Amino acid sequence: MLEITTVKEMREYSRLTRNAGLSISLVPTMGYLHAGHISLVREARSRGNRVVVSIFVNPLQFNDPDDLENYPRNPERDAGLLREEDVDVLFMPEPAEVFPDQPPGIRLSYPSLIGKLCGAHRPGHFEGVLLIVHNLLQWVIPDYAIFGLKDYQQYLLIKRMSAELAFETDIIAAPLIREESGLALSSRNVRIPASALPRALTLSQTLNQIKSSLNKNPLLTCKSAREIMQDSLNDGLTAEDIIDYADLYDPGSLDALPDSSPVKNSLAALAVHIGPVRLIDNMLY
Ligand code: AMP
Repeated sequence: MLEITTVKEMREYSRLTRNAGLSISLVPTMGYLHAGHISLVREARSRGNRVVVSIFVNPLQFNDPDDLENYPRNPERDAGLLREEDVDVLFMPEPAEVFPDQPPGIRLSYPSLIGKLCGAHRPGHFEGVLLIVHNLLQWVIPDYAIFGLKDYQQYLLIKRMSAELAFETDIIAAPLIREESGLALSSRNVRIPASALPRALTLSQTLNQIKSSLNKNPLLTCKSAREIMQDSLNDGLTAEDIIDYADLYDPGSLDALPDSSPVKNSLAALAVHIGPVRLIDNMLY
């Protein structure tokens, strides 16, 4: 596995690879890898001749300085895991090289989607995500870039950006991977205090309750699903847990659906602060 730390070398590798007629899959990450990331790497491997994984903890997408400072990191372990997956390139650029101007002069946005769900609660977050992903796609020019549905809104924004800026890259969605307990895998999970774990499980339990009600009644409405959601969150969370959002949405526009809409083909999504950690989860029905 080649370890590349400069943009110049990354561009050169990509140019040579493409000139040799080989396709490239890119998996952008912030490191501290888990099985969710590895599933993206395997999806990348199944599509491209060469797999590039980037690890960059992007300061622009952290709206909370404590979150940036406490974000878990372990580049040596990450490199070991990627070697086991036969990854061809680990791209780990330095912040000063990625964003030489602080703050960067340019801003990418997507007004119709960015003010909703996580965007409404994390000012500047998605602008930071769009800029780093834009730059990674320019440097690597991959045939495929793989993003997890764990971050559904992020995937949707990147898919639209790539289409509207006419990038060559196919943006691929990969399924959300969970622990056996149901908890959505996340690098931030190591920061959940053991005492708060049962509350953390409330997120996936809520989504699963809606799923089993839908299985029993395919005509389930959003009104009923909202009641299930409310009851489940009331039972599983405490007054100290802060719910940023929890609702049913149109998966294309991210608008909350009317009560009368069917749950089928909707997206349920939620974000809750549990202790020091903000957790997100979602399910497409
Ligand atoms: P991160 O390192 O958290 O920025 O995530 C890098 C990529 O991994 C993003 O495309 C995420 O959506 C994806 N990802 C993170 N957690 C999961 C998960 N539990 N299942 C699937 N993909 C995930």
